[in-house]
Amino acid sequence: MLNLQQRDTAVIWHPYTQMKTAGKSIPITRGKGVYLYDEDGRKYIDAVSSWWVTLHGHAHPYIAQRVSEQLHTLEQVIFAGFTHEPAVKLAENLLALLPGNQKKAFYSDNGSTAVEVALKMCIQYAFNSGSRKKKIMAFRNAYHGDTFGAMSVSGRSTWTEPFGEMLFEVVFIDPPNPGNMKDILSQIESMANDTICLIYEPLVQGAAGMLMHNPEELSQLMKCCRMHGILLIQDEVFTGFGRTGKLFAADYLTEKPDIMCFSKGLTGGTMPMGITSCSEDIFNAFLSEDQHRTLFHGHSFTANPLACTAALASMELLLLEETQRQIRMITEKHARFAEVLKSHPLAEEVRQTGTVLAWNLASGQAASYFSNDRQKIYEAFLVRGIIMRPLGNIMYLVPPYCITEDKLEFLYRNILEVLDLFQGG
Ligand SMILES: *Cc1c(COP(=O)(O)O)cnc(C)c1O
Repeated sequence: MLNLQQRDTAVIWHPYTQMKTAGKSIPITRGKGVYLYDEDGRKYIDAVSSWWVTLHGHAHPYIAQRVSEQLHTLEQVIFAGFTHEPAVKLAENLLALLPGNQKKAFYSDNGSTAVEVALKMCIQYAFNSGSRKKKIMAFRNAYHGDTFGAMSVSGRSTWTEPFGEMLFEVVFIDPPNPGNMKDILSQIESMANDTICLIYEPLVQGAAGMLMHNPEELSQLMKCCRMHGILLIQDEVFTGFGRTGKLFAADYLTEKPDIMCFSKGLTGGTMPMGITSCSEDIFNAFLSEDQHRTLFHGHSFTANPLACTAALASMELLLLEETQRQIRMITEKHARFAEVLKSHPLAEEVRQTGTVLAWNLASGQAASYFSNDRQKIYEAFLVRGIIMRPLGNIMYLVPPYCITEDKLEFLYRNILEVLDLFQGG
């Protein structure tokens, strides 16, 4: 009899994984709260929220109950020509929390598709308005997903190299900081006449390595784009739903985007779903007697009632005072630990935005995404019952909000021990 790991090896191709050299995948049988349990009953703290999606912990009973009820009521219905309560209610509830100009919600399946929809809205907005603008701007090192449009607006890297010539052209600008603000504003001004939109991850560039920038400069940049008629796509796929300490990164900014993208924490991390929200102005540009102006985009599972219900339940939990208190607790404890970490010789550029804490492993000690040290560090945490998956030489914590103070301290203590281990060896 083959065990699960061997059966996996026989039939599965894993994401972001060099299957020749990859270690065996750990079979997980169940999850509860911050813990994931493997076949042997060993438990791991999910310190990365299972790729940044889990908000309230695994197998949350309230979300499970709501989805189960929905599953017995209406599991799926074609979303062209039909509608249903969970889709309408979720759009109402989400839009009520967003900047006041966000008026419509378009459903899709994941973060990449939410970005595709946003890009198509902008490009066709220009088309429908008879504009001849062609350029799209994005931040250097951006990550917006793995489908072709989303790859095109993401930083070019080893990941995108084989597809380089197939990706559409994008002008990459540096994320703003107090030092480069003037240069960036003049760069934007010089391209304004030909630029349709700017897409950006607000405050935290996740996959780039949790790179952070200030709300003040980002607001200034947004204002400049707005003045020059450049549409703004704010990709909150990672930053949304409390990660930054506020409900959305938008809550730190003085300017409003035209379009916003959501996924990951949208359903509390229980089901795949994406939403692209937009302003009345974007929506209106598609209204016409002329079929050519229609947004011809959709997915089989658009607004799947189960996913919508999971999102409704997750957002209820998110808005509870208890959850908001947890988010503040994590933010404050991270801030205190950041001070300790700063004095560790192996931790460089310690940075934090809300519940996201990140630092670089000092160069020379641990190297690139492809190095063995990364694997060793990953394994050192696994042995200690902690899932922390470094991004290259960048370590980070993105815990589910249900984590307790004790468990956070357990994480901090182990981080210092593992760093000491690698400093010594
Ligand atoms: C993860 C991510 C995406 C892509 O989402 P998927 O659901 O993995 O396709 C897009 N944008 C940002 C900012 C992300 O972090």
